[in-house]
Amino acid sequence: MFQRHLFLISVPTPKTSPMNNNLKCLVCGDKSSGIHYGVLACEGCKGFFRRALQDVGDPARKKCFYNKNCDITILTRNRCQYCRLQKCLALGMSRSGKEHILLAK
Ligand SMILES: [Zn+2]
Ligand SMILES: [Zn+2]
Repeated sequence: MFQRHLFLISVPTPKTSPMNNNLKCLVCGDKSSGIHYGVLACEGCKGFFRRALQDVGDPARKKCFYNKNCDITILTRNRCQYCRLQKCLALGMSRSGKEHILLAK
């Protein structure tokens, strides 16, 4: 598991990599389209994080209605925006992450 993780991070150009179809979003496990904001993520999580960056005032993302430890999967990722965002951040997603990838190219 750990070695696989290292391997995925070392992929230099995810967009053109033949491995691309096998990549999974680290946040929810959905099919990933590549590295977004510095983290391997699906289109859904990419869009979610982009909205979170732009619209920080959304109260739904500031509160967990459960125990702040919600499981984020393809099926449950829309249930708790708070925990989804926390998971994105915990995985290292950031506004500067995107720039870092562009520079690394
Ligand atoms: Zn995802
Ligand atoms: Zn939650």
